[in-house]
Amino acid sequence: MGTFTCTPTVLFPQPRQNSEGTKPFRMQPIGNVHRRWINAMPPLLLADGTEFPKLEVVPYSYRHSYAQRHADAGTLPDVLRELMGHRSLQTTQGYYRVTEKRTRAAVDKLVSHQFDRHGNKIWTQARQLLEHEHARLRIGQVSVPYGICVEPSNVKAGGHGCPFRFRCVGCDHFRTDPSYLPELRTYLDTLLRDRERLAAATDLDAWARTEATPSEEEVKRIRTLIRRVETDLDGLTDDEREQITEATRTLRKTRTVSLGMPGIRPPEPDLRLERDT
Ligand code: SF4
Repeated sequence: MGTFTCTPTVLFPQPRQNSEGTKPFRMQPIGNVHRRWINAMPPLLLADGTEFPKLEVVPYSYRHSYAQRHADAGTLPDVLRELMGHRSLQTTQGYYRVTEKRTRAAVDKLVSHQFDRHGNKIWTQARQLLEHEHARLRIGQVSVPYGICVEPSNVKAGGHGCPFRFRCVGCDHFRTDPSYLPELRTYLDTLLRDRERLAAATDLDAWARTEATPSEEEVKRIRTLIRRVETDLDGLTDDEREQITEATRTLRKTRTVSLGMPGIRPPEPDLRLERDT
């Protein structure tokens, strides 16, 4: 056990020795107080009625609880990584888990609200997926920023082998669902902002401006997709909508966008990635 420095907040202040709560404290005394507190509690019962061993409740466990609660509330892995102060996403992911059962239920829920690039619903009836369909869905797709890609060669390359320069919303292999609504909205905002900014830019040749400006067709396509997904959600009962929200939270926890894909604002100054070809 090491010592912790709690400079920014008043933590465990003592009237005389540490009135500001800014001095480092040793873990051992806190561990002792914590142990007495836990031991004085009634049995800690799990959801299935079995007792959770009190010896396993140590101060460090709260870091896991913190991560798990954030994950359950839908905090994105990247955000949680920052909150936890980790360098690696892998480390953060070790602090929480998403059960296979929950992921499967979430996939079941969202797959019946999946849309193609035109905003047509792909599976019009809710259905429970068979085992092999789950496997296919999990294996036969990779994430792109506002949906998924099912193009076989790109999937095989782990998302690094798009044959169409990531023009997803114009591609037959693209799918989206309500869990991507935040990304779709952000993308639309970005396109509109870029369009305005480029229209006002005086330091670009006309050809460069044309190439960099998001096309009307792309803006229209994203608007249609958002509208179709929102209309679909509007048609649900409160209970069904809540189930979709829950499924979305679960899937967003594990979602990582393929590294081969440009971000919603591509980091590289390859302006041609920003326009339709
Ligand atoms: S454009 Fe997008 S959906 Fe189409 S193959 Fe490339 S990554 Fe997949």
